[in-house]
Amino acid sequence: MCQWDTTGVQYACGHYIVTSKDHKNDCGSRYCTKSSKHPRECRSSDCKQYYGPDSTQRASISTAYCTTCYEAFFSHLPRR
Ligand SMILES: [Zn+2]
Ligand SMILES: [Zn+2]
Ligand SMILES: [Zn+2]
Repeated sequence: MCQWDTTGVQYACGHYIVTSKDHKNDCGSRYCTKSSKHPRECRSSDCKQYYGPDSTQRASISTAYCTTCYEAFFSHLPRR
C-alpha cells in the first residue's frame, strides 16, 4: 500500500500532527486505490482503500498539547 513521507509536530500529549505531506511512496500495485497504477474505473472493494502508516515522519517537538487534546481538556472545565 502507498505511504507518505510527512513533516509534522510531535506534541506533549503524544500526538503527531501532520503539517505537510512531502512525498508519496507509490506502491505501484494495481490493487491499491491510492496507486497511480490502479485502474480509474475499478470499483472493487477488495482493493486497498487507505494509505499505510507514514513511511517517514520529520517531527518538530512541541511542549504544547495538540488542538484536539487542548480542547478536550478545557471542555471539561466548568464554564462561567
Ligand atoms: Zn498503494
Ligand atoms: Zn481496484
Ligand atoms: Zn493530542
